[in-house]
Amino acid sequence: MTLPKSSPYVIVGAGIHGLSTAYHLAKDLRARGAGGGADVVVLEKTEPGAGASGIACGVVRNNYFQPAMSELMQACVEVWESDPEAYAFNPVGYIAVGPAVQESDLTETFERQERIGYRSELVTGASEVDAHMKGLFPDWRAQGLTVCLHEHQGGFAFNRESVAGLLGKAQSEGVTVLTGAEVTGFEDGADESVTAVLTNQGRIEVGEQVVLAPGPWAKQVWRMLGLPDTIDVRTPSGDVVKDRPMWTYWNLQEGEITVDPMMFATADGGAPPVIHVDTDAPLHTDEGELVTDELWGIYFKRDRHGVQGGASPLVVDGEVELDPYPATTDVDPDFPDMWCAALSHTMARFEGCRPLYKQARSGGVGAFTADNFPVFDYLRPNVYGVLDSNHGYKMIGVGREVAKVLAGEHSSLLYPFRFERFETGDLHPVSHSPYPWS
Ligand SMILES: Cc1cc2nc3c(=O)[nH]c(=O)nc-3n(C[C@H](O)[C@H](O)[C@H](O)COP(=O)(O)OP(=O)(O)OC[C@H]3O[C@@H](n4cnc5c(N)ncnc54)[C@H](O)[C@@H]3O)c2cc1C
Repeated sequence: MTLPKSSPYVIVGAGIHGLSTAYHLAKDLRARGAGGGADVVVLEKTEPGAGASGIACGVVRNNYFQPAMSELMQACVEVWESDPEAYAFNPVGYIAVGPAVQESDLTETFERQERIGYRSELVTGASEVDAHMKGLFPDWRAQGLTVCLHEHQGGFAFNRESVAGLLGKAQSEGVTVLTGAEVTGFEDGADESVTAVLTNQGRIEVGEQVVLAPGPWAKQVWRMLGLPDTIDVRTPSGDVVKDRPMWTYWNLQEGEITVDPMMFATADGGAPPVIHVDTDAPLHTDEGELVTDELWGIYFKRDRHGVQGGASPLVVDGEVELDPYPATTDVDPDFPDMWCAALSHTMARFEGCRPLYKQARSGGVGAFTADNFPVFDYLRPNVYGVLDSNHGYKMIGVGREVAKVLAGEHSSLLYPFRFERFETGDLHPVSHSPYPWS
């Protein structure tokens, strides 16, 4: 398909955000009698799902300490639940178990979930947590965990299938998705609005608005708009931290063991919730070798051909070569030992699983903002950025909110993620989690 000369709405990137925005925008335009999918073109340099959305572990949860994240996530889970089949969503729930240092965070998160009507339960006390986990998994053996947040909503989705589901929905609304169309720059009008998007296939004039959803390529697109590499950040105490890098990269480490997926089931044979464990207990391999005696954490879920999951990501210094994505990801060679030892630490059924680790390229790079939270905002008068700071496969509902904003409505769910927060100090609270995304 060739590049049209112009389009009212141009969306850059066919990952979860670009496609969700395209679909919801097309539906909204039709509902308002203001057009439809024929007014929306998505430009994708490779193919739908070629970025982070196509390799995400697919965990969908609401375990966020920040009120704004939690409320936004509830809206996203609503979208996942609206069509589990098309989105390949598995509503198995999610469990976070942690040590004493995380008790206050998880309790606060649980109390907020109760207030906003997100179904979950909180268990505290070492023996109570142990009993809760043993009720689900009789061979549970991780000790010293004193808090458990069991979300009865959420779960996980199959990454490629959910992207395909969204693509199908957008296309059935009449949206055009152009593959192999790489955006290389923008043409500016008098008031800093973008009048045309430049691509390797020529230029496309913009009638109304542009939405940028470039995933890990956020910094490249940021630069194309002439936005600065560093920014000043006002902290909630009023201090200003000068020249913080706007973008940093982390390598996300993930992997899987090839086992019969049914070996990871609950005591009654049911589908297991996604499990996330953080602990300060020393971690040993099955052979008794110390892996770490510092706080560590892993997450894992049942997958189609085994058990899949990950651990804390690793920060990357300086620039990153992203293409070909995700092949350039530099994963810690010790990750398989650590992750398999950690699986075995949690449940006896995983003892001896290290030889079953699948030797394949795994994980990917994510781009993070100056405070590790998304920026959802106008970057130019008619250019809206969906820059999720790598939180966002689960954020399938952001596109629905963006569609409202494009129509001129206010979104109270996206407002806390405005770029201005770095200047005003209206930042999100930080939890005790070792992860940059909690
Ligand atoms: C290994 C890994 C595991 C993850 N696991 C989870 C998880 O379990 N749960 C969760 O919620 N999140 C997870 N994430 C984060 C999540 O995947 C991302 O936040 C989310 O997928 C980003 O979606 P996106 O649509 O913004 O970007 P992407 O899916 O990366 O899509 C961006 C698209 O834009 C295209 N593009 C880029 N530049 C251009 C250009 N110049 N011109 C045209 N097209 C362009 C790319 O080819 C790409 O297809 C994970 C991330 C990684 C890397």
